[in-house]
Amino acid sequence: MIGRRALLATGAALVLLPRARAFASRLSLRGSFEQGGLVVGKVEPGVPVLVDDKSVHVSPEGLFAFGLSYDGETPVRVHAAFKDAPDYEDVIQPVKRQYDIQSITGLPQEYVEPPPETLERMKQEREAIFAARQADTDGIGFAEPLDWPFAGRLSGIYGSQRILNGNPKAPHLGVDIAAPEGTPIRAPADGIVSIADDYYLEGGFTLLDHGHGVSTCYLHQSVRLVTVGQPVKRGDVIGHVGKTGRATGPHCHWGLCWFQMKLDPSRATSTPEPPKA
Ligand SMILES: [Zn+2]
Repeated sequence: MIGRRALLATGAALVLLPRARAFASRLSLRGSFEQGGLVVGKVEPGVPVLVDDKSVHVSPEGLFAFGLSYDGETPVRVHAAFKDAPDYEDVIQPVKRQYDIQSITGLPQEYVEPPPETLERMKQEREAIFAARQADTDGIGFAEPLDWPFAGRLSGIYGSQRILNGNPKAPHLGVDIAAPEGTPIRAPADGIVSIADDYYLEGGFTLLDHGHGVSTCYLHQSVRLVTVGQPVKRGDVIGHVGKTGRATGPHCHWGLCWFQMKLDPSRATSTPEPPKA
């Protein structure tokens, strides 16, 4: 038997609650219900949760997470099996977004059409990133809204169709924050370093694992200051802004993922833009 109840006021495109506010009901969800949103749930400890019929990792405190994809239009079903009450099921209809077109010119051509000898290297780097994003670890750094990693100017937004040196490319599934080279980049939440390396397109690259499949990544760094396996706390400096890899000027491409699903970091922070430098 399925018990249904209204979960959230419909039409609320963005529901970000203050950090300190406690979850009120036996199962509650917060975050962004837009395409590209990260949703964080809390359920009574010990209650299994399914999202679209797949079991999700629930922490001992009852925390769990899932993402809404960039272009997903089908409703996402959240199901919890209580022992002493009818099963809970709710349906989230992702709020559809309009995405921009962004044209970038002046990129060195070897980054727009990488030379054949770099293809094997890029394949290995993609595979390393894929493997790291598959991790489903116990951390709960994902459970609080993220901090912006540094103050700066939002120079590229999530979802834009990219046209690089005139060539249409895949959408931009992260945000770009421009700031002077050498600006310290800080961990937006607690986590563990799962990749810290120099990659072809990404340049100085760090991936942080915040638990339950939620990760963030930092590209184009001039300096990396953490190593694989190292725990980081919210606010720790992990590297410096640079322009390594495929970049026309100093900025950090900041990505947020739920496993392989690329989400919008600017919808997982308490404010939609970084603080002004
Ligand atoms: Zn970017």
